[in-house]
Amino acid sequence: MAQQASKLLWQLQQVGFSYGNLPVLHDLNLQLKKGCCYGVLGPNGSGKTTLLDLLCGLLLPTAGRIELGGAALSSWRSKALAGKVALVPQDFVVRFGFSVREVVEMGRHPHLGRFSGLSDQDYALVDSVMEELGIATLADRQVTRLSGGEKQRVAVARALAQDPEVLLLDEATSNLDVYHSLSILGAIRRRIRKKGLTVIAALHDLNLATFFCDQLIFLKNGRLLYQGALDEVLQAQVIRDVYGVDAHVRLDEFSGCRQVSYKIPS
Ligand code: ADP
Repeated sequence: MAQQASKLLWQLQQVGFSYGNLPVLHDLNLQLKKGCCYGVLGPNGSGKTTLLDLLCGLLLPTAGRIELGGAALSSWRSKALAGKVALVPQDFVVRFGFSVREVVEMGRHPHLGRFSGLSDQDYALVDSVMEELGIATLADRQVTRLSGGEKQRVAVARALAQDPEVLLLDEATSNLDVYHSLSILGAIRRRIRKKGLTVIAALHDLNLATFFCDQLIFLKNGRLLYQGALDEVLQAQVIRDVYGVDAHVRLDEFSGCRQVSYKIPS
């Protein structure tokens, strides 16, 4: 029992959220555990981004309670939260002419003392993350001049340089080609295995979710429809309920993952 509690990271109790008078999340009850990789799935507008913004404290629930590490999320100091949780947002915007290297270095800021700069160890970490994500050759380029996919890789690199305990990914691979999607998700999975990183990723692509996630959370119209281990919940009936399409789920021998094919119901 005690071991179960120590693995618990977030606890959401009857959480609701409204933008002004538009309710978008209703009565969410969730327990998210350390070291797991959760995929948050659902149709457009079902509340995935709003849920991630609530988990990292960018938004405050309008109903219910969110706890992180056993304490109310609202009681966390912003620097402590930034040292623990990194968010890769859907629209990664850098307005000024920072270089790629400078943006990735920003990932280290939550770990620095008030007046201290980056140490040799910090620079080494930044270098190795840029190398791992294939952006070392872009180091001196201005981020504002990169393509959408290149910017996404910089956003993920900044989050990994933060060396967080939890990584929140909001459609972080939507602009990437298949090679870069798989290599970035592979880099993240290595951190799950080696460091016990926890990942919560909003994804559109169910076939990417089967490659990447252990647990799936399906939202529809702001409500939690299904949650469970990938093998349990990735079923044709679930996909039909959530997305309104016919689906066929099979184990693909080549990739070793489940694969989903779809068609519009006749
Ligand atoms: P998803 O990520 O699943 O596409 P979102 O969480 O982005 O869903 O949006 C959920 C709902 O909230 C949608 O109906 C969207 O139009 C609305 N919404 C999102 N952001 C805002 C906002 N800043 N102000 C008002 N409504 C918003």
